[in-house]
Amino acid sequence: MIALKNIRKTYQQGGNDIRALDGVDLSIARGEFVAIMGPSGSGKSTLLNVLGALDKPDSGTYHLEQDEIGSMDDDASSDLRNRRIGFVFQSFHLLPRLSVLENVLLPQRYAEQADPEAETRARHLLERMGLGQRISHLPGELSGGQLQRAAIARALLNQPALLLADEPTGNLDSKSANDVLELLAELHANGQTMVLVTHDPHIAAKAQRTIYLKDGKVDEVHA
Ligand code: ADP
Ligand code: ADP
Repeated sequence: MIALKNIRKTYQQGGNDIRALDGVDLSIARGEFVAIMGPSGSGKSTLLNVLGALDKPDSGTYHLEQDEIGSMDDDASSDLRNRRIGFVFQSFHLLPRLSVLENVLLPQRYAEQADPEAETRARHLLERMGLGQRISHLPGELSGGQLQRAAIARALLNQPALLLADEPTGNLDSKSANDVLELLAELHANGQTMVLVTHDPHIAAKAQRTIYLKDGKVDEVHA
């Protein structure tokens, strides 16, 4: 479903070239759950940003289903990102003045066509995340674990082909982290394709495959 071929991405830093990704090849099957690990600066965030069509590679190809994203213009790639990709961040990224339900419906605001089923889906997702009693609350009234579960509901609103998560439990206490992790495992069991960046080997152990990056290259792959 996903194929990255020879992906390179270089940043300029103080006149030097930093090779954030240095010839990455990666294939991910539909329904797979892949963890990405590696030391700080090894290219994990850059790889996730490329997978999420937030960042363009300098060279190489990226196929997501039938589309080649590497060569798309910005409008086409942002439209594809909104329709096909869900993001979960370490720091939740919910808007503080919108209710939980409104936050979950945010991806619809950017959709080209209004989807009459979106609100029903949002309510259903929030029920499933254990937040049925919290839909009218503001983010400031929720715990970290609840915020992350709301963020996961938002990421799933448009039924994305690919769910990406960058240290999704990094800001949570261990009980909430475990709840979020169980939720992700359940999504995977239901067929969701997922890629997750983590420093935590316990989290990576939930994935089917762990890819270790080092200096912008795939260093090791563990099944
Ligand atoms: P990781 O997520 O594994 O910590 P990153 O993908 O964030 O690694 O970074 C890989 C390398 O690219 C690092 O050397 C980092 O400093 C550099 N880098 C990442 N993003 C930028 C950027 N926007 N501008 C300049 N350098 C960057
Ligand atoms: P995290 O480990 O929480 O992902 P990082 O430090 O790896 O945080 O990077 C956070 C963001 O900052 C990433 O999106 C990355 O692309 C960007 N970034 C990393 N290093 C640099 C840098 N040297 N200059 C500019 N942006 C950077």
